Amino acid sequence: MTRLIVVSNRVNPPTGAGEESVGGLAMALAAALREYSGLWFGWSGQSTPTFTGQLSMQKIEGVTAATIDLEESDVEEYYNGYANKTLWPLFHYRTDIAAYDRAFNEGYQRANRRFAETLRPLIEPDDLIWIHDYHLIPLARELRRLGLKNRMGFFLHVPWPAYQVFVTLPGHRQLVESMFDYDLVGFQTEDYRQAFEEYVLSEAGGEKVGDDLFKAFGRSVRVGAFPIGIDAPDFARLIKTNRARRMRDLMTACTVFRHLIVGVDRLDYSKGLEERFTGFERFLAADPDMRREVLMLQIAPVSRESVEAYQEIRARLDAISGRINGEYADVDWAPFRYVNKNYRRDELAGIYGAARIGLVTPLRDGMNLVAKEFVASQNPEDPGVLILSRFAGAARQMKEALLVNPNSPDEIADAIRRGLAMDKPERIRRWSALFDNVQREDVTAWRDAFVDALKGVEERRTALA
Ligand code: UDP
Repeated sequence: MTRLIVVSNRVNPPTGAGEESVGGLAMALAAALREYSGLWFGWSGQSTPTFTGQLSMQKIEGVTAATIDLEESDVEEYYNGYANKTLWPLFHYRTDIAAYDRAFNEGYQRANRRFAETLRPLIEPDDLIWIHDYHLIPLARELRRLGLKNRMGFFLHVPWPAYQVFVTLPGHRQLVESMFDYDLVGFQTEDYRQAFEEYVLSEAGGEKVGDDLFKAFGRSVRVGAFPIGIDAPDFARLIKTNRARRMRDLMTACTVFRHLIVGVDRLDYSKGLEERFTGFERFLAADPDMRREVLMLQIAPVSRESVEAYQEIRARLDAISGRINGEYADVDWAPFRYVNKNYRRDELAGIYGAARIGLVTPLRDGMNLVAKEFVASQNPEDPGVLILSRFAGAARQMKEALLVNPNSPDEIADAIRRGLAMDKPERIRRWSALFDNVQREDVTAWRDAFVDALKGVEERRTALA
């Protein structure tokens, strides 16, 4: 039987009901492994002074997880360095803070080599190998060097930037060349796929030899858009749990006579939180009559705290949120709740369900699962309004949301006003279309589309031979 080997930087399958970790990736991969027997391989999150290559195997919730510890210098140069200080900002259009350091790139290549060498003995000839995200782009190249002929697919969870942005990366060519060691490369949206195509055609001297097949560097790769979704049936279960209900009742009770506006994001500079806070501030400033009618709740658990850019954005958000309440709060009331705590997904489902407006305004986002979770949590008879950044991958599928330019606090303020004024029939009409899409294009559809395409590669090879 064909096994599926999933490789991602961190291996963190859910450990029990409701305890899923932050990040859309973990949930999606656990769902993928639910049906395919196989293995989830990656970094344990631990480090040692020198690399040992020792594998640790365990079975968590029916998923076999194989992890390795990384060397301290790998964590610094590969993870904090190249992944979080170079590729993450670059792929999110922050060329101003992307750090280019040769040691980072060397650490990235080294860690990928180490992943490959440790994974190699676990692979059987028929296994499908599915590698995830920007941490592991060169992994197929390293596995091929070790002689593996297996079908290998790569899925990028973050955006693929426009050509002129991508070429600011020193060594961009080497990175793209390594993508041609995959059989299939998947992006979240058609836009990212097109941006990759533009690079291949204009910079790498490649050619398109079929609808989705590209040739460059003497090799070929199939490329497609596979928008990721949420686990829709699981979310339908989640919103009915006691914890979700309790949270919904609690939020409803503390917003009587007021509308709840909610945002939920990892504390990251790509999420547009500064502009969002300012947008809410402008809304309050412009509508004195509305001030007592709303409560904005922003949940933003901290992440990547050791990276300076994250400390800076956190300090700025502390300042703006303090300023808003300082200016507009009263002795018995405050307009803004800003919380850096991490919440369970069942609790989030309850919070989304009590909200009249979901504010999802990242400056750039590969997909954004919070937008989909918000929609999945609404009461069909009286649903809330989704305000969504046009620069989230999700905007491609969620056209019935109020789409905004997240760089403009004024546009965000206008959209809040419009969302609060929207009548019930319009809310129901928009929500139904969104909900339909969230149900249909869910994580299972995503997984099946990608895995089927990867399986199909073999037939294509035979056909071309
Ligand atoms: N999340 C969570 N608890 C929190 C905040 C967020 O479980 O306190 C989850 C949220 O439900 C969503 C994921 O983290 O499933 C965030 O995924 P998204 O694609 O929106 O953004 P990412 O963090 O992957 O950039």
